[in-house]
Amino acid sequence: MNKHKIAIIGSGPAGYSAAIYTSRAEIETVIYAGKEPGGQLTKTTEIENYPGGLGLTGPELMAKMGEQASKFGAVIKWEEAEDLDKLREEYDGVIIATGASPRLMGVGEEKYYGKGFSTCAVCDAAFYKGKTVYVVGGGDAAIEDTMALTKFASQVTLLVRRDELRASKAMQKKVLDNPEVKIMWETELVGIKGDERVEKLELRIKNQELREVKAEGLFFAIGHIPATKWLEGSGVELDKKGYIKNGVVGGVSWAKGYPTMTAIPGVVAAGDCVDYRYRQAVTAAGMGVMAALDMEKWLESK
Ligand code: NDP
Repeated sequence: MNKHKIAIIGSGPAGYSAAIYTSRAEIETVIYAGKEPGGQLTKTTEIENYPGGLGLTGPELMAKMGEQASKFGAVIKWEEAEDLDKLREEYDGVIIATGASPRLMGVGEEKYYGKGFSTCAVCDAAFYKGKTVYVVGGGDAAIEDTMALTKFASQVTLLVRRDELRASKAMQKKVLDNPEVKIMWETELVGIKGDERVEKLELRIKNQELREVKAEGLFFAIGHIPATKWLEGSGVELDKKGYIKNGVVGGVSWAKGYPTMTAIPGVVAAGDCVDYRYRQAVTAAGMGVMAALDMEKWLESK
């Protein structure tokens, strides 16, 4: 019997975990590692919340995942995949694990990644014990991040660009009457200062007054952008924000028995390009494994 051959698009925790499973199942596996090999974890420093990852940095953990996939025969191509139709002609199945990027503001934040700036409070809050921190955003994620930070930081301020929050009423309640949280309305972050780490933020209040505040931490929770633009018009169904619809998120099971299957048979999807809610390396890895197992079962059924 000829070996089945599949493509995995993406090299974050979802893609590599899927690859470890498919290659161990003796499915010929080619990974298209993409523009940012290793995904979002390559932008973090210490890892505390990936089981077994303590003591590693984000880039080290991702390198280990890549090595593990390669050890079992997965081939990594350092290129992007752009055309799903072509992939489907070339391969028996496709696993999409292209991830998402946190939305940024372009106020110089990238230089402070891991040095006072983070886009994941759930991951990094514990590093901010006793510190003065600011969160930018107004949606559910911003509230969740603010609440996560109140457990550690001495002062948490939420910077909201409008005079109201976008978050659900239930989530809003958690911060509106909370004495531990200060909210600055109609406040825009316009600059960041600090030699090695974040030290000060420049804020514009109500479109006029500029104010400089001392800060030891800055968190963005202004949404994510799933890397799915290349799938528009491909037949893979996307929601209005561009996240891929599969049976795991959204509760829709397109193909009975294959929860990670997209609207196209033989194309499964996993990780942050599907999941706007949990967005953790470990949940992405878990969904990657689900996608690999679904793929294996689907290939066997053909
Ligand atoms: P959202 O798109 O819901 O909210 C983004 C927020 O960031 C908005 O308040 C927006 O402001 C603000 N924002 C965007 N750009 C800027 C900017 N340049 N400067 C300042 N503020 C900005 O994204 P979330 O990540 O919060 O949530 C994504 C999805 O995940 C949602 O469907 C949410 O419900 C869900 N979620 C649910 C959770 C839960 O229920 N526990 C937890 C986390 C997420 P504005 O309002 O002015 O547009």
